[in-house]
Amino acid sequence: MLTQNQINGVIAFHRHHCPGLTFGMRVGDWVLNEFGHAADEEIVAVAETDMCSVDAIQYLVGCTFGKGNLVFLDYGKNAYSFFRRNDGKSCRLVTRGGLLQDLREQQEKLSANDSAGREQIRQQMIDRILRADFEEIFLICPVQVPIPETARIHTSKRCDYCGELVMATRLLNDPVLTGGKNLCIPCRTNHRGEI
Ligand SMILES: [Zn+2]
Ligand SMILES: [Zn+2]
Repeated sequence: MLTQNQINGVIAFHRHHCPGLTFGMRVGDWVLNEFGHAADEEIVAVAETDMCSVDAIQYLVGCTFGKGNLVFLDYGKNAYSFFRRNDGKSCRLVTRGGLLQDLREQQEKLSANDSAGREQIRQQMIDRILRADFEEIFLICPVQVPIPETARIHTSKRCDYCGELVMATRLLNDPVLTGGKNLCIPCRTNHRGEI
């Protein structure tokens, strides 16, 4: 169970309280119990969404973009994988769905200017997410991706099209695709025919 202090801290970090953040609080609480806190980089999170929930995970578990132990996959799924480097423990949490179905239907029937009604339903959603059994919300299953690499310090080289410095691992140099030039991701997407 999260303490009121932890909950307040998450809300202060995210700047509002919402159902998405509450899903993230449940994930963060579960991970703290199962994996511990990522004081340094020993716990790695892979989030398949960039919604509100990820802020709760960053705040509670200590997996952040800047530290390199938070990886974002743009899959649009309420799903998260966690890895612990020292013993290889891992798991993926994926939402079962349906928990808020009736409330969402009620919300859709409200008129656009019924802000009191909306607020009431939002609060009911938050309460339900906080109280539900964890496994009623999430399915706990094996991970589907390999553990992300630790090495993050790479040399930079210039892109042959825009001239900007790019981490070498993000440049593509291919005899056919880039005509043997070093190209950054936007240049090979946007200037394909010109090179
Ligand atoms: Zn939010
Ligand atoms: Zn470029």
